[in-house]
Amino acid sequence: SERTLVLVKPDGVSRGLVGEVISRIERKGLGLAALELRTVDRATAEQHYAEHDGKPFFADLVEFITGGPLVAMVVEGTRAIAAFRQLAGGTDPVEKATPGTIRGDFGLEVQFNLVHGSDSPESAEREIKLWFPNL
Ligand code: ATP
Repeated sequence: SERTLVLVKPDGVSRGLVGEVISRIERKGLGLAALELRTVDRATAEQHYAEHDGKPFFADLVEFITGGPLVAMVVEGTRAIAAFRQLAGGTDPVEKATPGTIRGDFGLEVQFNLVHGSDSPESAEREIKLWFPNL
């Protein structure tokens, strides 16, 4: 079994898609190890997206992710990291994500792509420590 950090970003929360995302996670056969609604501060957002520091969209990304409540969760199960990324679909909701995925079904813009999922075991460990230090 494996763990991954999943976010329903502020656009997903404001559009009322939290239940939809959780439902897809559960129907896939994955489980929830932690779940919390929270508004994240700038320092946490910048740490979360540290690999994008310096990119042209970094400031907008931090602004967006801190701009409203999001749902952070730890998702657990067999191959949870790859399994959730399969559910999410590609980063660009139109050019990359296919219908049937969360982004493919509900997204239009790269910045407002609804969800985040850790992309490797190393990222998952780092991100779970950042978001759920007591887990
Ligand atoms: P995430 O890390 O959120 O799961 P990802 O791994 O699919 O997404 P990354 O390339 O790591 O994509 O980019 C992180 C996030 O930064 C994207 O989900 C998106 O919200 C934002 N982003 C990436 N590229 C762009 C861009 N060109 N313009 C605006 N926002 C972008």
